[in-house]
Amino acid sequence: MTVDRRTFLLSSAVAAGAIAGLRPKVYAAGSDTVADSALSELRASLSGRLVTGTDSDYDTVRKVRNRSYDGVRPRGIVMAQTAEDVRRAVSWASTHKTAIVPRSGGHSYIGQSTTDGLVVSVVPMSKIKVDKAAMTATIGAGAMLIDVNVGLIQQGVGLPTGSCPSVGVAGLTLGGGVGFSSRKWGLMCDNLVGVEMVTAAGEVVRADEKTNPELLWACRGGGGGHFGIVTSFTFKVHALEPISGYAIRWDWKHADKVLDVWQRWAAEGPDELFSVCAMTRGKTEPSIRSHGRFFGSKQELRKLLAPLRGVAKPAKFSVYETDLWKAHVESPKCWPDPNVCHSWNHPQPGRYKQASYTVKSDYFKRYLDEEGRAAMIRGVEGGQKQKLRWGGVILDGFGGAINKPAADDTAFVHRDSLIQVEYVAHWWPKVGEAGAERIRDWMRAFYASMRPHASGECYQNYPDLDLPNWQTAYFGQNLPRLKRCKAKIDPSGLFRGRQILTGAAG
Ligand SMILES: Cc1cc2nc3c(=O)[nH]c(=O)nc-3n(C[C@H](O)[C@H](O)[C@H](O)COP(=O)(O)OP(=O)(O)OC[C@H]3O[C@@H](n4cnc5c(N)ncnc54)[C@H](O)[C@@H]3O)c2cc1C
Repeated sequence: MTVDRRTFLLSSAVAAGAIAGLRPKVYAAGSDTVADSALSELRASLSGRLVTGTDSDYDTVRKVRNRSYDGVRPRGIVMAQTAEDVRRAVSWASTHKTAIVPRSGGHSYIGQSTTDGLVVSVVPMSKIKVDKAAMTATIGAGAMLIDVNVGLIQQGVGLPTGSCPSVGVAGLTLGGGVGFSSRKWGLMCDNLVGVEMVTAAGEVVRADEKTNPELLWACRGGGGGHFGIVTSFTFKVHALEPISGYAIRWDWKHADKVLDVWQRWAAEGPDELFSVCAMTRGKTEPSIRSHGRFFGSKQELRKLLAPLRGVAKPAKFSVYETDLWKAHVESPKCWPDPNVCHSWNHPQPGRYKQASYTVKSDYFKRYLDEEGRAAMIRGVEGGQKQKLRWGGVILDGFGGAINKPAADDTAFVHRDSLIQVEYVAHWWPKVGEAGAERIRDWMRAFYASMRPHASGECYQNYPDLDLPNWQTAYFGQNLPRLKRCKAKIDPSGLFRGRQILTGAAG
């Protein structure tokens, strides 16, 4: 059986019941003074739907994946069919001075794709067109990763995508996009060669290496929601190759030794290898597992695994031949109807429900020494005492193609990192707000204990509202250039939010 991070993450998707009283003020505030007649005018101008509070499906359509934002009630959600719909929505928001945010898969951890103003959902724009001669694919910004994988792999090509089929291609790509093929094929943003975007001025612009190259640069990891609303992406794609995979689990008592060996093995392995180490809450004690993908045969992978496997006797070990179709489509049971791998509120609804969760992230540029490993193990053991549905820490080995570009070749700055770290906690709604806060406090303490060992950088796609210095943590040396892009393309700050860049200095 293929076991990867997707399995962990998706098994944590939970259903039913909002957390009472939880409504963090992080979304872009809209204007309550917009008259209903103005909304009617907007509705009449669109080819797609405008969903408002009087529509029977409003409560379904307005919500995002993280339950914490269930209290946010947009004035309207534009289900944009075309770039022209997006353009009209942007002009309307500008005229009525109301907040406007784009939404693709709705998976932002901090509810960045909702607002009490106007949401523009690009979900209806999800066409995928592959040009085999040019080895490029043009993908509507509303495609979910399952749509991308099905659309590409059926035509014999692939992209790194990511772990979860219901994540949107837009948010993933604009913030970087790490997948199991990334040490071989790079990040999603590294494969991006063009975008079509509607700007704050209501213009439909194209950005590629020749036209608006600075905007393309910003879209390659500078984060979703800052610069405009992307309506389509053009990627260079890769021919499919044979792949294999592995999964190992050890008893928790071996965690220190495994972590010590795994970190070097994962970051220094061949570009063909991508590996994850997950330390998460288990039934009676935490579990430590590693799983990954290798572009090559099962025999080669088995040899490569010898040092990792030899650390301590695994409680479980498997190595298997697979392919991208099995890994991304069949294994998560998205076939024969890929729509089942959409979110519950997608126009072609699927099985992925809302969840209550929080994340933090780190990049390690030095391997964890004895003290660092002890801190990490203590943090995970602390999580064992929490009322987690699922959670702990997930480490991705960086290096390979991810680290080949220079820090300023794209807006994704974290290029000299050895390990990307995701601290993650999911809980059941029944733990209540007080229980959720206890879980957040555990994660805060865990994260604080790792400060001496981390670089201070964080992944913009795992955003964290506790970060006082989020701009430098996400963008580092690329921040001034990103701010200049913002000032040029959205001088009045039409696109705004708590972790949305402003063009102003500081
Ligand atoms: C279950 C789960 C699994 C994940 N797995 C991975 C993984 O394997 N690899 C990885 O790198 N990340 C992963 N992530 C993180 C993921 O990349 C981010 O959450 C990403 O922002 C989600 O994109 P979205 O389109 O689904 O979300 P949304 O909430 O729709 O958008 C995210 C941000 O992008 C903006 N945005 C959306 N559409 C557009 C658009 N058309 N134009 C401009 N801005 C837009 C939004 O306004 C928001 O700021 C995962 C997240 C979850 C919840």
